[in-house]
Amino acid sequence: MTELPDRRLLLVHAHPDDESINNGATMARYAAEGARVTLVTCTLGERGEVIPAELRHLTGAALGEHRLRELTAAMRELGVEDFRLLGGAGRYGDSGMMGLPDNDDPHSFWQADVDEAAGLLTEVILEVRPQVLVAYDDNGGYGHPDHIQAHRVAMRAVELAADAGHRIAKVYWNRVPRPVAEAAFARLAADLPGLPFAKSAAVDDVPGVVDADRITTAVDGTAHTAAKAAAMRAHATQIEVSGPYFALSNELAQPILTTEYYELVNGEATGETDLFAGIGPAAGEAS
Ligand SMILES: [Zn+2]
Repeated sequence: MTELPDRRLLLVHAHPDDESINNGATMARYAAEGARVTLVTCTLGERGEVIPAELRHLTGAALGEHRLRELTAAMRELGVEDFRLLGGAGRYGDSGMMGLPDNDDPHSFWQADVDEAAGLLTEVILEVRPQVLVAYDDNGGYGHPDHIQAHRVAMRAVELAADAGHRIAKVYWNRVPRPVAEAAFARLAADLPGLPFAKSAAVDDVPGVVDADRITTAVDGTAHTAAKAAAMRAHATQIEVSGPYFALSNELAQPILTTEYYELVNGEATGETDLFAGIGPAAGEAS
């Protein structure tokens, strides 16, 4: 039997940068606490829009290679050693935004066979044997094809892994409680004149915003604020960071949240502050 840490967390994301934006504080916290944190990213995000003018010559495979280096740097900031591309780097292509012809590219993740992709993820699950999995909701948080597909693949892999003998004890979706988002955007509105961003995004631009009663779990990663911001900065083609705020290529400012929120979807919970709450060291072991 391979030696594995007692607590094992697997996160499934669509593109390099999604993990740092959504879960950077959570990942840094659990990594610092000695848990095994495993990230599976489904595509290299090679259709992402590049922010810095001096890097805009990067497109396609060259951008994918660059974003893998950014991801590597971000994981160094978060203290996460185990990060992988689903099926290996380049196996699945970025599908582009919903409705673009890119969606029809047979190499795109959107066109992937869900069972086949889920089979690749199941191999990781059976190796790492996580007790906790974090994924997107069924709209992928905000409707991007790769995020929707990442949801489908993650949820199917949960089933396939259970069939193969490893039941994941807790499955979570990334969330942001609406009142938290509203308060953060109110602070942002007050700070906006001092920021390098001309405009603010809106609450509904944030993936995964739901009413507060849907939230089961809040992970306080405030102690890892600097690591999260540094990881986001490492994704320099995609993210511009200024203090506790950031913007994507649309240049709309958003708050960086350092308490990160989750909805448990395969059980009942309220008021949790730990994704591993209720899980003993032996939980999730195949018997
Ligand atoms: Zn993404």
